[in-house]
Amino acid sequence: MIKLFEHLEDIDISAEHSLAEHTYFKAGGKAEIFIQPHTAEAAADVIAICHEQGIPLEILGRGSNVLIADKGIPGVTLMFGSRMSQASACGDQLFLEAGVRIAEACALAARNLLTGLEFACGIPGSIGGALRMNAGAYDGCFENIVVRTQYVDREGIMGWVEGAEHEYGYRESIFIRNRWIATQTVLQLQPGNRTEIYPLMAENARKRRESQPLEVASAGSAFKRPSGYYAGKLISDAGFKGYRLGSCGVSGKHAGFIVNYGKAKASEIMAVFIKVQDEVEARFGIHLEPEIQFIGDWSGEPMVRREKRS
Ligand SMILES: Cc1cc2nc3c(=O)[nH]c(=O)nc-3n(C[C@H](O)[C@H](O)[C@H](O)COP(=O)(O)OP(=O)(O)OC[C@H]3O[C@@H](n4cnc5c(N)ncnc54)[C@H](O)[C@@H]3O)c2cc1C
Repeated sequence: MIKLFEHLEDIDISAEHSLAEHTYFKAGGKAEIFIQPHTAEAAADVIAICHEQGIPLEILGRGSNVLIADKGIPGVTLMFGSRMSQASACGDQLFLEAGVRIAEACALAARNLLTGLEFACGIPGSIGGALRMNAGAYDGCFENIVVRTQYVDREGIMGWVEGAEHEYGYRESIFIRNRWIATQTVLQLQPGNRTEIYPLMAENARKRRESQPLEVASAGSAFKRPSGYYAGKLISDAGFKGYRLGSCGVSGKHAGFIVNYGKAKASEIMAVFIKVQDEVEARFGIHLEPEIQFIGDWSGEPMVRREKRS
């Protein structure tokens, strides 16, 4: 299969590529074909070939919000990372490729004395992942600052969306709905002061360090916030704070985080998701919908439920 892509320029390609090190959970199998595009056009070429040849395609950013199956990802895994991470500021706007780390974008904003991205300081992952997930924290989210985004659809056709066309909501976007791939974006910030931007970023990073288990592997909040509740509080009230299942479990620092303390397999981490979801629903009748994306070949394995038990 790799031969189908070898003639393309501006890509790095390899077969049977281990993915665990590309994820914050530090778990999961291999990519059958692993491709890092250097340009949006190269990404579009790869996607078009996958579409024409019926090859499964999965997208990976910096791996901070995914759990990859132990059996790995069949077909092509297209990763937006350091190979697509051009970032620049012009006036009050940032121009960012999908692979730019959110942290780099925050640093660029601060260096140019631009305000509006402080909320994101400390969110791991890439701009592409943040655009898809409408990443947010501390009353801010990408929805508020994204002007326009270049995307590639699942047939390999490129286009742009602007403003409300991003169809943003809480962890919702046009990229999720249409399975589009974000390749670059423009963020609108405002002129700010050094004396306000840097302290606010430091304060947000401090709050994160104090409240989140950043010293162990995780993929952030395991479940979305159910309307009217906090997932972490429900999980804690169900007795799971600090729960341990082999070398993974629920953080003792923040019950909203499912963590890998060592070499847990993806299936073991999944078992924690299932246990927590089942128990919270049994006790409180509240369905916890996973926030983390489960990608790869999970066939034949028990899975956490997206929908409430009927
Ligand atoms: C310790 C910790 C704290 C976190 N705190 C927060 C927080 O406060 N707020 C928050 O919102 N999130 C948080 N997260 C989750 C995560 O950092 C964000 O969702 C981030 O935006 C994901 O980016 P990524 O590049 O790592 O995406 P990945 O994990 O690589 O991918 C996530 C999903 O996005 C898709 N994707 C990736 N790149 C693209 C692209 N270019 N186009 C289309 N789809 C793409 C993938 O297919 C996958 O479905 C946290 C995670 C950790 C580990």
